[in-house]
Formats: sequence, structure tokens, C-alpha cells
Amino acid sequence: MKSTIEFYKSLYAKVSTEKNNLEAIVNVQKKVIAMLIEKKFSLKEILDTINIQFELIFGEGICSIYLFDKEKDTFFLHSAPKLPVDYYDYINDILSDSRNEDEKHPLYLEQRVVVSNIEAAPMWSDCKDKALQYGFKAWWSKPIRDHEQNLLGAFSMYYHYHNTPDERDLQIIDQAANLIRLVIQHFQAEERIIFLKSHDELTGLPNRKRFKEKLTIAINLFKKTHGKMLGVMYFDLNQFKLINDTLGHSIGDLLLKAVAERLKECTRENDIVSRQVADNFSIFIDHVSKHEVTIIANRIHNVLAKSFTIEGHEIFVTPSIGISLFPADGNNADELLRKADVALNQAKKEGSNTFQFYESKWDEKTNERLLIENELRKALDKQEFKLHYQPIIDLSSGRITGVEALLRWYNPKLGFIPPDRFIPIAEETGLIVSIGEWVLRTACHKLRYWQDNGYLISTISVNISIRQFYQPNLIMVIDQILKESGINPSSLTIEITESMTMDVEKATTILKNLKGMGVNISIDDFGTGYSSLSYLKKFPIDYLKIDRSFIKDIDKSKDDENIATTILLMGQNLGLNVIAEGVETSEQLGILKSNNCNEAQGYLFSKPISDDELEELVANLSR
Ligand code: C2E
Ligand code: CA
Ligand code: CA
Repeated sequence: MKSTIEFYKSLYAKVSTEKNNLEAIVNVQKKVIAMLIEKKFSLKEILDTINIQFELIFGEGICSIYLFDKEKDTFFLHSAPKLPVDYYDYINDILSDSRNEDEKHPLYLEQRVVVSNIEAAPMWSDCKDKALQYGFKAWWSKPIRDHEQNLLGAFSMYYHYHNTPDERDLQIIDQAANLIRLVIQHFQAEERIIFLKSHDELTGLPNRKRFKEKLTIAINLFKKTHGKMLGVMYFDLNQFKLINDTLGHSIGDLLLKAVAERLKECTRENDIVSRQVADNFSIFIDHVSKHEVTIIANRIHNVLAKSFTIEGHEIFVTPSIGISLFPADGNNADELLRKADVALNQAKKEGSNTFQFYESKWDEKTNERLLIENELRKALDKQEFKLHYQPIIDLSSGRITGVEALLRWYNPKLGFIPPDRFIPIAEETGLIVSIGEWVLRTACHKLRYWQDNGYLISTISVNISIRQFYQPNLIMVIDQILKESGINPSSLTIEITESMTMDVEKATTILKNLKGMGVNISIDDFGTGYSSLSYLKKFPIDYLKIDRSFIKDIDKSKDDENIATTILLMGQNLGLNVIAEGVETSEQLGILKSNNCNEAQGYLFSKPISDDELEELVANLSR
């Protein structure tokens, strides 16, 4: 009978402590959540609270909480209010050392561990003496993981006597671990939010705000050292918008990430690479000379010049870089950034693939640029454009085989503006699409007129800009113009540049479509682009035009001659016609001829001239 009563008594006692435990745990949870919401407490303060509260629930034992440092791949003790300070430090030393040692601290088993008797446990053999010195006899621990099983930390208990956990102890440990997990994850999320406020989510680079803060600090700390300054680079990727539009934003995003990775490789630890907006990056370089900035800018060019492979697309990008220097160009972050941006615009004007240091005269040029843009918007309607034509000469017969159409713009306010000035602006504003269509139409109709009137001009070459090239309706537009002008498609040559083929796959499709219509394709300014020769085989092209810069000193520089003759040889091997551009002297012509160059163009034969002048020239020649 007695035993039955005692049984019921003990049962009642168990139920009541279970109830008490549960209530106590719920109370701790409430308290901790309130602390989280209040946002006034540090992670350590909250973990200390959890330890103290759970020590009360367990009744005996000392609780401790470890955090896991993912980067270092180690645990460290973060909260154990009741552990002696010496012992606390000792454990942290052991933890930071023992990850790679044979004798690992038992936490590195990364599983639930119960050591009822430290003295007898082999896994404690290394640290047992110290534990015993402090009177610790038993130790239990449980790892804490997030929902994806990533290690966050561990919870452990020390006892001053040999002790094995019963069912109740294990349940309380589980509850403690759950609560700790919640707290750690909360702080991780907070950290992430703070990180995101100062960083760019896509690339993980510091954002504009952070960049400016860091630059401002550096300006304030700057100490004059002979020849040293701070450099600010501002740059974007040429044609990035186009990549985004044609290949989609997700590929654009991946490209930006890849670019960010390469940029980090180019800079030193103290330099800051940041993403400002879209494809605008900025780099701040601490204590450098102008010469060193130049080296870094060149390095960026080289590093980015290698093609990127993104989801099977081989993509080429080139940056344009503008650079400002402290203290020469400004004394605060905003001014330095603005001037680097002005220099960037200048770099773009100079053609892609270049960098520029800020010069004050460009600020005036920026205004001029706006003026050009305004006038350009109205130019087509006001019929301010004209085409000039430059003869292309067949070198074996000396005859004019065709002409290249070159755009001319005369504006009553601004005067004559060369294409190198306004075409980049037309490109950026998108105006090039309608202007380019006008060029194509005018050129084709003119050729038809010449052919109908007995002028011996068999082909016309038209320059296509990158924006036009990637217009989805390009093929349709050309097809329509060919039909309405009635010229044979084989008498039209489309000139594109190497840099336009940065998306090899897409370019191949467009070129094949053009070829399918019977139009000829010419690679203009050959030798100045990224010089990936592999694509030459892939693309259905007919002509290579050796860039003027190689012809210029062909009779003076062996290097230039070598480049030109290599291009000639390569063209011959691939069955392409090679046209030399910018031939001005008979010496240049001599070298080209002796290397079997097919055709040439340049002031030696004729400058680009108006239609009337061309008609006169052709008429005279055939007389
Ligand atoms: P490009 O296609 O390389 O055209 C050749 C440029 O070299 C022309 O300059 C021409 O006048 C110049 N040139 C020809 N022979 C000689 C020579 O012997 N010596 C020297 N120093 N220069 C020579 P231009 O007309 O100023 O055109 C500059 C660039 O503007 C062209 O370079 C082309 O990229 C662009 N462009 C011209 N017209 C159009 C157009 O209708 N559409 C597009 N998208 N771009 C055009
Ligand atoms: Ca051209
Ligand atoms: Ca050219």
C-alpha cells in the first residue's frame, strides 16, 4: 500500500516539476523575446540571460554557450557568466587551437556529447587537468544548427559531480538550444540588414554611401607625402545596357558579380571597390602616385579584357574609366566623384577601352555635349545630315570598286561637327537608330541612282553602330531598304567593329541573317578590338579593314608593318579580302601592294567627298 502511495507521490512530484519546468521555460522564452524586441541588448547580454535562467531551471550545473565562426571554422566561448574567467580564457585558447589538431576539443565532434565523468573520458584527456583543477567532473553539450543544418554554436553544461542527464535534462537542453538558435539567427539577420545598408546586395561590394564615408575618412586622414595622393576611379562597362537588354537581366547580374570579383583582384587590401549603381563601379585607391594609378587602370583593362563565360554565353566587356585625384581635383568625396565622372564621359568619347584623368577643360565640354545632344535631337527633322563618300580602290586594277558612306553633320549654331564627336552621343541617346536608318536608306538609294545613270560604282559600304546592330528589327529594316531601292544585296557592305561582337552567339546569329540576305560583311577598325581571332572563323565575314593606326607608320615602324602583314596573311588564309584604311602615301601603298593587300582607301586616292564631287571624279576617270 505504502509503495503505491509513494509511487503516486513521486508521480505527482514529477508531473508538477515537469509543469514547473515547462512554465519556467516559457517564461525564459518570453523574457528573451522581449529583450530581442527591445533591441537594447547585445547578443552576449541575451545569451548571459539564457544561461542564468537555465541554470535556475536545471537547479545545478553551469551553463555555457559557444558560437561558431564560419570563416575561421572554429568555436569560441561567448557566454558563461558562472565560469571562472581564467577557465573561460583557457577554453577559448583550446578551441582556437584544437580545430586542426589530432586531439580535438569534443565540441568539434559536432554532435550531442555526454561526459558523465571527465576524469575517465578519453575525449577530455587533453583538457582534463585544467577542468579538474576547477572541480568540474561532468560535461554535456549539444550543437546548435539552423534549418539548413549550418552550425551556429553549441550549448553545454558543467557539473561539479559525476552526472548523467536523464530524460528531463535532455529535454531542457533541447529547449535551451532552440532558444539560443532563435537568438543567434535574429542577430545574424540584424547583421545582414546592417551590412546591406552599406553594401550592394548583388556583388557584396561596399555601396555608394559606404564608399563616400570611407573616402571622406581617408581625405581627413590624408598626410602629405611627396608625390602621393588619393585616386578615385569611376567607371562603367561599355555596352552593358545592351548585354542586359539582349541577354536578360539575370545574365547581366551574373556578369556584374563576375566583374566585381575580378576588380577585387586588381586592387590592394586598403583600396575600396564599390558598386555605385547599375554597371557603375568606383574604386578608391589610397596613397598612390599618378603613375601607380595608371598601372592599376591598365591592370583593370587587362583583367576585364579576358572574356567572361556566363551560362554558356561568352561575353566580352571593356570598361571606360575616369580618374580624379585628391588633392588636385577636389577636396571632398562628392567633388572627386563628380570629376571622375566627367573624366569618364571624356574617356567614352575617346572611344571605348580607355581611361582618362580629369582635366578642368572638360567641365566646359560637358556643357558643350549637352548642347550637341539638344541639336542632335532635331537634326534629322531639320535635314542637317549629309553623306560623303570615300572611294575604295582595288589595288590590282587601280579602279574604284566601291565607296564608303560617311555621315556629315552641319548645324547652323554649332557649325560642322565631326562624326567622332556626335556619333557616341547619338549612340548613348538612342538617336543613332533613326539616324542610322536614314544613312542606310540614303546610301542605298544613291547607289541605285548611280547605277541607273551609268556611274561605275559597284558597291557601297555603310557603317553600323552597335545599338543599331542589336536592334531586333535590323534585318527587317535592311531588307525593306534593299527592296525599296532595288539594289542587289551583294552591292551593300555592312561595316561593323570587333567590339560589337562581344556577345559571340548573338552576333553570329545576326551576321548569319545578314549573310542570308546576300549582304556583305566587313570588320572595321580591325586590330583595335579585343583581338580574339577565334571568332573570325565563326563569323560569316567578307572583308577585314586594317585600322588606320597600323597603316600610319607602316613605312616607319617594323611593329606596325608586322601587324599589318600578319592581318593580310591571316585574311588571305581565311579567304577574306583585306582593305587598308587611311592610306596617305605611296610608300604605304608600296608595302601594302607587296604584301598582296586587295583594296585600299585613304587620302592618297581621295578624301571623303560629296555625291556631286564623286560623280565628277568617276566621270573623269572613265573618260
Ligand atoms: P571609320 O568607319 O573608320 O571611317 C574612316 C574614317 O577615316 C573617316 O573619318 C574618314 O574620313 C577617315 N579617313 C579616311 N581616309 C583617311 C586618311 O587617309 N587619313 C586620315 N587621317 N583619315 C582618313 P570620319 O568620316 O570622320 O568618320 C569617323 C568615324 O565615324 C568613322 O570611322 C565611323 O566609325 C563613324 N561614322 C561615320 N559615318 C557613320 C555612319 O553613318 N554611321 C555610323 N554608325 N558611324 C559612322
Ligand atoms: Ca568604316
Ligand atoms: Ca575604320
